[in-house]
Amino acid sequence: MMIKKMVWSLLVLTLSACTTMSDSKKNTLSSDQKFDKFEDVFLDEFWSLAPGWGTYVGYYKYDDQLPIPNEAQRAKERVFMQRTLAQLDELDQAKLSVENATDYELIKNQLESGLWYLDEFKEYQWNPSQYNVANIFGLILSTEYKPLDERLRTITTRLENVPAYYAAAQRSISKPTMQHTDLAIQQNKGALLVFDELIPGKIEGAGLTPVERQQLNERLMAASAAISSYIAWLEKLQAETSKEQVPDFRIGERLYEQKFKYDIVSNYSAKELYQKAIAEKNSLHERMFKITEELWPKYLASQSMPSDRLVAIKMMIDHLSARHVDRDNFVTEIRRQMPIIQKFMDDNKLLDSDPTRPLVVREAPEYQRGFAGASVDAPGPYDATANTYYNVTPLDDFTDEQAESYLREYNHWILQVLNIHEATPGHYTQLMHANKSPSKIKSIFGNGAMIEGWAVYSELMMMEAGYGNNEPEMWLMYSKWNLRAVINTILDYQIQVLGMQKNAAINMLMAEGFQEQAEADGKWRRATVSQVQLTSYYNGYAEILAFREELKEKMGNDFDLRTFHNKFLSYGNSPVPVIRKLMLKEWGLALD
Ligand code: ZN
Ligand code: ZN
Repeated sequence: MMIKKMVWSLLVLTLSACTTMSDSKKNTLSSDQKFDKFEDVFLDEFWSLAPGWGTYVGYYKYDDQLPIPNEAQRAKERVFMQRTLAQLDELDQAKLSVENATDYELIKNQLESGLWYLDEFKEYQWNPSQYNVANIFGLILSTEYKPLDERLRTITTRLENVPAYYAAAQRSISKPTMQHTDLAIQQNKGALLVFDELIPGKIEGAGLTPVERQQLNERLMAASAAISSYIAWLEKLQAETSKEQVPDFRIGERLYEQKFKYDIVSNYSAKELYQKAIAEKNSLHERMFKITEELWPKYLASQSMPSDRLVAIKMMIDHLSARHVDRDNFVTEIRRQMPIIQKFMDDNKLLDSDPTRPLVVREAPEYQRGFAGASVDAPGPYDATANTYYNVTPLDDFTDEQAESYLREYNHWILQVLNIHEATPGHYTQLMHANKSPSKIKSIFGNGAMIEGWAVYSELMMMEAGYGNNEPEMWLMYSKWNLRAVINTILDYQIQVLGMQKNAAINMLMAEGFQEQAEADGKWRRATVSQVQLTSYYNGYAEILAFREELKEKMGNDFDLRTFHNKFLSYGNSPVPVIRKLMLKEWGLALD
């Protein structure tokens, strides 16, 4: 998981003067020049309206501003988005270069989506966990983009609006769901740490004047009090609301289809993808059973094979999962594997790599260690040449039992698939290619389904090339991993649209997805507080694969896998349907 998308309606929108080009210039500029101008003006205005998001992606100009999420702000957002959409309408997309035409699509989708979130989805009314100020304050504190004293002054200014922020939050919430209220209470309790301990902990060693120090301390106390009273208000609300009155966390078919359209940007409807996923699940089970039959005499000859196919597959997976690295060798093993995986990708000419932009495997820094595991930390759009890190959290904090369960999950085979997904040719390789045609728009409004879909597709790409010597064990474990993305899609749709209950969900994850209880419980919680995001992995994967097969058909012998991969990645983090459209056009192929 790499891209965190902030919700538009939380962002401050203080309108700056609308900048337009003078009429005399307008006529002499080409379409691309006009668009470049529009983009510059748009982005600068955007960050002035969305300072928290700006700070998150490394644009610090408005880092001391905190929006108050009230009706006046939402009205300003609406005006800005409508006005910018009208400006886009004036530009002729067909006359733009491929880069600009793609940016155009992404900006348009972002704005249309923003309006939908505001006026249709109305999450600000029912999701109290939307309101939390801690992250950006924590980011300003821990990122050394300017001296500590200056960052503390920025924090002081930004703290001023915190009480008004939470007051506006309370006024905005009208029908919170139980699940989002729980989450809000839990997360805002965690937020207190930033104001009660982390920021105060830095004041002592800084060079603030006594007056500045006193002002900061006062505002920290006011912020802490505002958060505490928000938590108390939510707890009271929860206690006073009877079960029958609580709105369902499920968003239902109409909103789900719409959210899918804006968040995923797919050629499929949500329902079509759901049906596709069911068929895929069945064919994966089929394949996994064949492998299980093949491997049975090798590993489980002394036992008779159960008649229930899913039970038999589960037994084989359980047996094989005992093969894993020692808990102390987790980081070392990942470091050892990466050059081997990279070499396989290069030797098989799957796509271009860039030795001048290597991946740095490291133990995750303390402040990024929330969860055990591994993830790629790529440079942001305003710092595109920085190192790419593969952060691996050592299992030091685990009990023996937890470590064993974790290592069985990331066993000998699945650990390799994880490295492929996170790093090469997955996220690291994809983002390295995206940075070759740097576009802030594609980086900021990047499509999560394309990014996750690519990582999932890259696993198949390696398997098809014979990674792991085509061992049946490797294929079985790969299939289990792939099944997770497929089942995420089914689960999300069944819960959010078809009303699936907890027991049925857990049962499906364990019996049909071969997951452990703890993983299944966590997935259920995630599926009750988010919608659609769980479908992004499988959707992107299915679309990339379908596009590849379409090209093979259209190009015949001219199709070359490496050329396809390089070209596909040259469009940055754009939605797959957008890449498809532009690529067919560039290659002179029919769109149909
Ligand atoms: Zn991923
Ligand atoms: Zn073990």
